[in-house]
Formats: sequence, C-alpha cells, structure tokens
Amino acid sequence: MKSVFFNAIAIAVFLLAFSCSSDDNTTSDGDASTDDEVTTDETSGVAITAVVQEFFKEDNGVSVTVDEENGTIIITSSTGLPDHKSPYFDVYGMDHELYEDFPVYSVTDGILENFYIDQIADRIFSYDEEGNYIITYHANNNDEIAAVQYTMQIPIYPTEATTKVDTELSAIGMVLNGVPFFNNLNRDSDPLGGADVSTLDTAGGHPGANLDYHYHVGANFGLYTDENPEIAYGTIIDEDNLVGFMRDGFPLYGQQDQDGTYPDDLDDYGGHIGVTEHFPDGIYHYHASTEDYLDAGWYVLKSGQYYGTPGTFSSN
Ligand SMILES: [Zn+2]
Ligand SMILES: [Zn+2]
Repeated sequence: MKSVFFNAIAIAVFLLAFSCSSDDNTTSDGDASTDDEVTTDETSGVAITAVVQEFFKEDNGVSVTVDEENGTIIITSSTGLPDHKSPYFDVYGMDHELYEDFPVYSVTDGILENFYIDQIADRIFSYDEEGNYIITYHANNNDEIAAVQYTMQIPIYPTEATTKVDTELSAIGMVLNGVPFFNNLNRDSDPLGGADVSTLDTAGGHPGANLDYHYHVGANFGLYTDENPEIAYGTIIDEDNLVGFMRDGFPLYGQQDQDGTYPDDLDDYGGHIGVTEHFPDGIYHYHASTEDYLDAGWYVLKSGQYYGTPGTFSSN
C-alpha cells in the first residue's frame, strides 16, 4: 500500500508541473432576464419578501430592497466577505482576526480510493497515529479574498419554470451572510475533483479568479482545525436551517426537514414542496445534497438545474 502511495506522489509531482489554477470561473453577470409577466404572478407563488428581509444578515453588509412594481427583490451584499474564519483572509501573514489554518483531513483506506481517483496533484500527505492518511488542505492559486459587491435580483413570487435551465459556472445563489455559492463545477465545467476540493476552507469556500470568495459545499466540521469556530459558518447543512436563496428565488435548506427527517421525495432539482420553519404554509424549497462528495466528507449545496427561472446575479 505504501509503495503504491509513494509512486502516486511521484506521479503527483509530475502532474503538478502541468497543473494550473484549480479554481473555477469568476462570478459573472447573470444572463437571464427578469420578465415582469413571468415573475409577478401572485396567484401561483408564495411571497418570500418577509423571510428575505428578516434573515439576510444586515450586520454583514447585506441590504434588501423590494421593487413591488417589477415584482422583484434586490439583495445587495456590500463586500461578499464571509462573517466567519477562513485561511483566505490572510494566507501568508496569518494574522487577520478571522484567520484560521486550513483544515486537515484524515483519510481512512476506503475514502482515499475515491478521493485519489482524481489525481491529487499537490497535497501534503502524512499519517496519523492510527496509520490513516492525512491530507493537508492548502490555498488555491488565487491566494486571498477581496471585497466584491454583489447584487442578486430574485422574484417576490418564485414559480416553477416551464423550461428548466442549468445552473451556471458562477454564483447560483446567496447565503444569508451575503457570500455567493456555486454549484459543483470548476472553471473547466468539470465536476470539482480532489485538487479543487482540497483548496476549500472549513466552511466549504475559497476565492475565485477575481479573489471572490464563494462556497461550493456545506461546512465540514469533520475536518480537523486548530481551533473551533467562534463564529458559526454560514453553510451548516446537517440540520433544517435556512442556508440562503437560489437565484430563482427559492430557499435552500440544510439536509433535513423541519421535523428532523431527511426528505426522501426530492425531485430532479433537489427540492420539493413542503412546510418549513419560515414558510409554515409550504413552499418549494431545495435541500443541500446528502451525497458524500468524493467520499471526502463534503456535501454540495446545489447542482444541476434550477426549478424556477433564475434572476440576475451581478458584481460591481
Ligand atoms: Zn470555486
Ligand atoms: Zn424539505
């Protein structure tokens, strides 16, 4: 096993010479238009205004404006920066007040097999006292995060789209703390692999090409960190919490429903209609995935197609 492992390292070093930035595309302007006639049908949708206004975090620079005339809600995130710890706040200096080290992942035999298939190029391997492999996470080529102002425009009454469209290689929604989240694709339109995943911080985020911090997956407390987070990560998903809103206006919840069960009736878009804490009369809502991504302990927030019609998400 070990000789295979060290051969793997040799291959990895070779691959490293050819590896480029392992991150995805920068956040780009949305391409979907918001058509008044589509988004303001009060009879077929549930208004999300009150929940959006109450739960997006004003104290992290998020503001909400309602445009009744056009049937849209405009959510502006003034910095797009997380309100929790991340190594990307100061990768080199390590002295930002919200700095914490990269997570370290302990890998049992079965897990390494799947994680490794993707050819982890430049991980640092070691062993723990029980002989498990340990992968040390590290910065991607974008190194640090910078403030980016975002504006997401979503319908007051989100409704199912007659023609479903794919989520993009850019922000597909916003977490309540004002940080954008992406799907599970990297900039080559390939599913995130081990090389991408091991650049995530404990919250499941990293910077893109424009130093724009974004999440791909839920926070992973199974990872070793030097210290426990003093500020809750925005992407905790192993419960029924409201994580954020997708660009089509539908809310994204953690893996569980309000009654503490894991739903078994999710559709092709990862959601279903049902009651939630915030929508007691029921609403269509997405749930974070329960599939262990790459067997690495990460859970994708949302992949595949939108259920509704996506509004715009722009940076300025
Ligand atoms: Zn990314
Ligand atoms: Zn549900």
